[in-house]
Amino acid sequence: MLTHNLGYPRIGNQRQLKKASEAYWADKISLNELLQTGAEIRKANWELQAQADLDLIPSNDFSYYDQVLDMSLTLGAIPDRYHQIVTELKKPELDLYFAMARGYQKNGLDIIAMEMTKWFDTNYHYIVPEFNKNQQFKLFSTKILDEFKEAKRLGIITKPVILGPISYLLLGKEKESGFHRIDLIQQLIPVYIDLLKKLEALGAGWVQIDEPFLALDLDEKAKKAYELAYKEIKKACPSLKTLVATYFETIEQNLDILSNLPICGLHIDLVRAPQQLSKVLDAIPANLTLSLGLVDGRNIWKNDYQQSLELIHTARQAKTEDRLMIAPSCSLLHSPCDLDSETKEDILGAEVKNWLAFAKQKINEIHELSLLCAAPTEAGNKAILEANEAAIQSKKSAPSIHDPKVKAAVSALQPEDSQRKQAFEIRKKKQQEELRLPNFPTTTIGSFPQTKEVRQWRSLLKKGGMTENQYHLNIEKASSEAIRWQEEIGLDVLVHGEFERNDMVEYFGEKLAGFAFTQNGWVQSYGSRCVKPPIIYGDVSRPAPMTLFWTKYAQSLTSLPVKGMLTGPVTILQWSFVRNDQSRKTTCQQIALAIREEVNELEEAGIKIIQIDEPALREGLPLHTANWKEYLDWAVEAFRISASGVSDSTQIHTHMCYSEFNDIIKHIAAMDADVITIECSRSQMELLEAFGNFNYPNDIGPGVYDIHSPRVPTTEEMVALMDKASKVIPEKQLWVNPDCGLKTRAWEETNAALVKMVNAAKSLREKV
Ligand code: GLN
Ligand code: ZN
Repeated sequence: MLTHNLGYPRIGNQRQLKKASEAYWADKISLNELLQTGAEIRKANWELQAQADLDLIPSNDFSYYDQVLDMSLTLGAIPDRYHQIVTELKKPELDLYFAMARGYQKNGLDIIAMEMTKWFDTNYHYIVPEFNKNQQFKLFSTKILDEFKEAKRLGIITKPVILGPISYLLLGKEKESGFHRIDLIQQLIPVYIDLLKKLEALGAGWVQIDEPFLALDLDEKAKKAYELAYKEIKKACPSLKTLVATYFETIEQNLDILSNLPICGLHIDLVRAPQQLSKVLDAIPANLTLSLGLVDGRNIWKNDYQQSLELIHTARQAKTEDRLMIAPSCSLLHSPCDLDSETKEDILGAEVKNWLAFAKQKINEIHELSLLCAAPTEAGNKAILEANEAAIQSKKSAPSIHDPKVKAAVSALQPEDSQRKQAFEIRKKKQQEELRLPNFPTTTIGSFPQTKEVRQWRSLLKKGGMTENQYHLNIEKASSEAIRWQEEIGLDVLVHGEFERNDMVEYFGEKLAGFAFTQNGWVQSYGSRCVKPPIIYGDVSRPAPMTLFWTKYAQSLTSLPVKGMLTGPVTILQWSFVRNDQSRKTTCQQIALAIREEVNELEEAGIKIIQIDEPALREGLPLHTANWKEYLDWAVEAFRISASGVSDSTQIHTHMCYSEFNDIIKHIAAMDADVITIECSRSQMELLEAFGNFNYPNDIGPGVYDIHSPRVPTTEEMVALMDKASKVIPEKQLWVNPDCGLKTRAWEETNAALVKMVNAAKSLREKV
């Protein structure tokens, strides 16, 4: 049984790539220095995997920004608007590449970036390929070949990783009408063949071709394209060992075409979909090598060897060993680099650390699994298995994971716990009596500028350079100034500004029981941006109030309503590493109950409006639409649990940073928030139509300006957008607010924009 890996994290275990690319973009280091950093990371990754005795080590899993963008450059799919960068400015390939990723505003040029979107159901974002009707492809960048040669010089014959032709096309977007991108397959295949032949000539054996779309629902067109592409590849490179990799879902629904594809190997994700194994074994031809994805590439828990060995055992009954491989479930791009970098006991305690495996440890798990298969009775291997069993057992039985009170509260949940007392119309009247808001009430989404100064307070406090007391005084000052200023500019519903928060999930995680944190558990989100998700390891509860203090403080300074600001249960779940010993639904219910306690306590303290943010609700959608309903049912219910403990007169808001609601509008309505604020300005309110068509009954604040840009909008623009909105939604239901929180903006533009926004609301009221 060969062992292999689908991809290793490329940010470097100290985020070297982030630091180097940002320095390069800021003209602080040379191109050579950046290339040097890239080469060092690749070398370290290859050597680390070689030391772990991995049989097939990936290359071209490295990327300076994104692997899909790499493929666009490889295939010469470069939108015309970037050509000047090469032809006139004679910039190196990497500058062209970064321009495609980030836009180019230099040397008299102003070229926008390519679009970015989420990579399947992960938190990784890729750069969307752009296609024209007469799209031509040619081998443009030789990155794949270069990295193969580079590893070869180090004595390693790698398994190149290439994004497959069908998935590449499906990930892209047509930039003009009159064709379907799948039809470009005819033009694309020759370039893939050219590339594969060159790899073969360089001495490549196995080549991994990633086709994640094979785990999704495919239409006939896509299925036909798969058949065509792989037949052509086989014809052109008959002896190349093609390993087609699928991940993130089961491939059961596509076994009809898959079992007939002329490929040499197939990788399946047995962490996400272990149930597919026997069906796949039944369906595939005897000479096809099956790669078992056993070690979770998407989460941070130690592999349960016993469980993996059972899967291997099942596979061995159907296939000979030389037709089997073992591997992580998907690329380790989605895992942090190295658990050994977690050195501070006070951050990640020894108990939880013993349950975890990051990328480096996962590679070792693959190695150990192969040892356990090869010589199960050997003393050293027995010890390996015992140590693993002990860790798994300790996680199962640890008192720190199990809180009987939390479990009892979840089992005691009743339907009325996720039900507001009265219907929205009745609540709206009572809230209006209480709040006496004008038409077109104005508010913001929560955060105000997190200036350098504010971030510095927090970092000083952490390092011991500022006392708790001083930190507290600083936050107090920032919040009170924010309240004063909001009163001055005439907003109707105020916020305290979230100055005390580092991040909307981490802040709550730190205050909830059942969460752990890492020093260095960074995962790439896009380009140089990395995130450090908290780890939900145990039953979640709320030992003490989380936001009460600052919300109450802010409310004490004003007679206008201050909106309490919470992150919702689905978003906390979605942006964390989640325990794998119970359903996500159960974990989400536990978080929901903790948030509910906070909501209730805010109400008791006299807070009349409470916002529960759920920006991640949509991204939690399963990859197969057949599973959407189940997810949406429990996700919506979790939100409702958190929101339904209050009286009719307390107004619950929610916020989402997008507005693609067409396909889930029914469920959004079922959340029954009194007010929902959404992003709308970039689509010129078009996205609001889903709400209009549905006759969405509750109140809506469609964002009137884009907070992602420093540009200050004019009053007229905002009035015009609201006029458009009121064609779709009755005026009585409309609020006026920005698209999202303002934490990334500077004060100057925030002030200017909000003054104009308040003016816009005033002129709307006069028109009525
Ligand atoms: N309340 C949060 C803020 O204003 C919401 C952020 C978000 O939607 N991502 O920052
Ligand atoms: Zn938002």
